[in-house]
Amino acid sequence: MPVYKVVIIGAGPAGYFTAQALQKAQINGMKFQIDILERLPTPWGLVRSGVAPDHQKTKGVSKVFEKIAREPNFRLFANLEAGKDVSIRELCERYDAVVMATGASIGNRLRIPGEHLVNSLTAAEFVPWYNGHPDFTNVPIDLNHHTAVIIGAGNVAIDVARTLVLDPRILDQTDIAQHALLQLQNSKIRHVIVCGRRGPEHASFTMPELRSLSNLEGVDVCFNLSEIESAQKRAKAHSMTSKETLSNLEAMRLLAITEKKRSDRKLEIRFLTKPIEIKGKSKVEELSFGINQVDINGEILLSQEKLAIKCGLVISAVGYGVGGIKSVPVENGRIKNIRGKVRNNLYVVGWAKRGPVGVIGTNKSDASDVVDLILAELKQPKSISGIDDLLKSRSEIIDQGGWEKINAMEILSGKPLGKPRLKEVKWDRLISLGRSI
Ligand code: NAP
Repeated sequence: MPVYKVVIIGAGPAGYFTAQALQKAQINGMKFQIDILERLPTPWGLVRSGVAPDHQKTKGVSKVFEKIAREPNFRLFANLEAGKDVSIRELCERYDAVVMATGASIGNRLRIPGEHLVNSLTAAEFVPWYNGHPDFTNVPIDLNHHTAVIIGAGNVAIDVARTLVLDPRILDQTDIAQHALLQLQNSKIRHVIVCGRRGPEHASFTMPELRSLSNLEGVDVCFNLSEIESAQKRAKAHSMTSKETLSNLEAMRLLAITEKKRSDRKLEIRFLTKPIEIKGKSKVEELSFGINQVDINGEILLSQEKLAIKCGLVISAVGYGVGGIKSVPVENGRIKNIRGKVRNNLYVVGWAKRGPVGVIGTNKSDASDVVDLILAELKQPKSISGIDDLLKSRSEIIDQGGWEKINAMEILSGKPLGKPRLKEVKWDRLISLGRSI
């Protein structure tokens, strides 16, 4: 039976779900050899370096990735960068299909004055820092202030806010990177303010994230009741309001009326605050906002009113875009594609395909759609040999066995500390741990 060779670039959720969809397609009389290339020495993408440490249950999806990796037609080539160590052209020539699953890792900027100041960061730097991504261990972050402001009303903003405001004893039981835990243990931050530029009805928090705020240990979560009630009135008056928005608003209202614990840790969510300027001599000292209003038609209008918040840290969580990969066209923050097709036998899945929207599970149906397209377009399998030698000649590959050694070592090191794992965060240590002897 002919065997098609497919290479997936990026070992995150979109990459694994693509491999899974290909494995499932084998019942239709087709056979696949699936290679996953990964720039880092470790796989699992956002499950390792994006999902917040206090959301360990979400990371349970890695069990699915392990199952996919156990199939005999799956191979991991980690510590190999497509577009640099091996070109996209070389891959397209040798494989029957090449699937980009490279995500969107560049944090969008606010493009306001003062954004360059020390302690003004994007979530694309802060999140991988606390999650132990080896490229972000040295991000300079100063937590020696009482107040931090997070810009954006999405789930990433909430993840960032929780991590900053939670009692670090809670994070100590997770797989948070040790360097981040140490800094959070010494952090003076007690007040975190999440600022959305539109109204509560426009926030993109999902229900599970909102629910997780209702039992945040040792933290008072504060919504402004009149702000939420006004949004509820507007939303109910508007015939197009979704059920989801109405339930989100109700969840926010309940949070607003929940009796406060009088804790010294406070997470405040404010709306209709448009960031205008970050002020400070060399470091962040203040963030100024214009106050927006929602008019009768739901349009956002900037009022004359202003607001200034004294703070020592600003993190913008306002979405992501894809980083450039040589010879792959990028448009509007994603890889230019039509329903997953880039050109010839080059395809794209996940955030790189559709932009930075959707939870981990969204990648499953997305990958499955692109695999259907690949299946429909496959011709005769290519008979070019020597792929392994080519890849191995370009970098010191960490294969599945190498990753399993790293994984086992991290889990073992975490055990005596009561953690699910103690992450290794240095490139050279990861490579030597995963080295095949
Ligand atoms: P998001 O949901 O798109 O939220 C981005 C926020 O940034 C929006 O509130 C947006 O406001 C705001 N924004 C954009 N440009 C801005 C600007 N110039 N000034 C001020 N605010 C601005 O994106 P995300 O939070 O990065 O999340 C990405 C995806 O990952 C989402 O689908 C999310 O659900 C998912 N995710 C899920 C989880 C989870 O399930 N636990 C955790 C993290 C992320 P406007 O609406 O006004 O544009």
